[in-house]
Amino acid sequence: MNKSDSERIAGILSHFGYIETENEKEADLLIINTCSIRQLSADKAYSQLGVWGKMKKSKPHIKIGICGCVAQQDKDNIRKRAPYVDLVFGTHNIYELPALIKRIENDEKVCAITNNPVICNQNDFKIIRKNSVNAWIPIIEGCNNFCTYCVVPFTRGRERSRKPEEIICEAENIIKEGFKEITLLGQNVDSYGKDFNDKNITLANLLRELNKIEGKFRIRFVTSYPSDITDDLINAAAECEKVCKYFHIPMQSGNSRILKEMNRRYTKEEYYNIVSKIRNRFPLVTITSDFIAGFPGETEEEFQDTLKAIDELELDYSNTAAYSPRAFTKAGKMTDKFIPEPVKYERLERLNEKNREVCLKSNEKFIGKVLKVLVEAKTEKDGKIILNSRADNNKIVHFESDKYNIGDFVNVKITKAQTWCLYGEIEE
Ligand code: SAH
Ligand code: SF4
Repeated sequence: MNKSDSERIAGILSHFGYIETENEKEADLLIINTCSIRQLSADKAYSQLGVWGKMKKSKPHIKIGICGCVAQQDKDNIRKRAPYVDLVFGTHNIYELPALIKRIENDEKVCAITNNPVICNQNDFKIIRKNSVNAWIPIIEGCNNFCTYCVVPFTRGRERSRKPEEIICEAENIIKEGFKEITLLGQNVDSYGKDFNDKNITLANLLRELNKIEGKFRIRFVTSYPSDITDDLINAAAECEKVCKYFHIPMQSGNSRILKEMNRRYTKEEYYNIVSKIRNRFPLVTITSDFIAGFPGETEEEFQDTLKAIDELELDYSNTAAYSPRAFTKAGKMTDKFIPEPVKYERLERLNEKNREVCLKSNEKFIGKVLKVLVEAKTEKDGKIILNSRADNNKIVHFESDKYNIGDFVNVKITKAQTWCLYGEIEE
């Protein structure tokens, strides 16, 4: 979501003649788009601001900006911690940027943080996409779930879906421009449309509409909330040939008591049922997840339920993190139940080890199978051209070829599996 926001910010700035530079020493305007999901990401943002603050001492004309979740969350603090900052804008204020830029260009110090999103047709603004093959399209922003560990509902606000016609128009333009993949984004894509009070506006129907767009491209969607995945969504994924058979469904913990403490609306058993429903429907599907190690009060036995779940569910990959207390959240106040740091990080290490083990196992399942991949990049090794690609099921596949190019779809037979990627050869 942040990467997508950054592409939109770069697009808006381009209306004012700003051009992105790879060399920050050349920049007249430096903006950091921040994440506050864990303390580490927030700390990184402040340390980057510190570096830029020093740069500004010798080059007072440069302007420094900060946006995203840290800006939204720390509004008053930023000026105290980094008084040299010229522009602070929140997650709801991106589309106000044209007016804000004019103000900082007039040497005004600006802070634009509201709790109400600035609503507009996002298609009125240019987007400078980083990737030439895949395009992100946010379909729903914010979150209503209030998982007890998570700061997102406080930094991104309540759920707001974009109008289907606006999304379809953006997708049509993207395909005309030559993109080969669209990824629909949302904190909980399954909630898409619920705020319109029209039962026909759902993620499943949006996929059906996008699938009708002419052209050779594929569609992904992230992130799915386990108990919100409907049979209709699974049916739509099955009906639509352009929709990738890939689901990212964060489980967070393999223990039902911890899930309840996290305010997740499903039990371990319900999660198992969803996974088996999807696996039965799509034999080559990959299912990935997120897990948190050391949630307040988590016992060793409860943590082991997570390791067991990853094994039993044969998850194909998981993002992992040690629990990080966040401002405003319920779990952040459970200080008497906090797990000591060394225990948390030792659990995270075991979680990562389990993840590596199941990833390799998952990759090995594909040896001998033919996967349809989309070429994303090209590299050279020992005089040979290696194409770096991604299969429909999100597996990274490398193969040798001087015939195909970035943006091509190719059938590749898998010959070798490593923990994080597959190798193969062209299957004509
Ligand atoms: N909406 C998605 C998750 C978005 S946040 C969902 O509900 O699953 C991305 C991931 O960050 C989460 O899945 C969670 O695993 C992790 N995360 C969120 N808050 C965290 C915290 N306080 N400490 C550690 N990890 C956290
Ligand atoms: Fe955070 Fe939960 Fe919302 Fe995901 S569903 S963004 S974890 S509050």
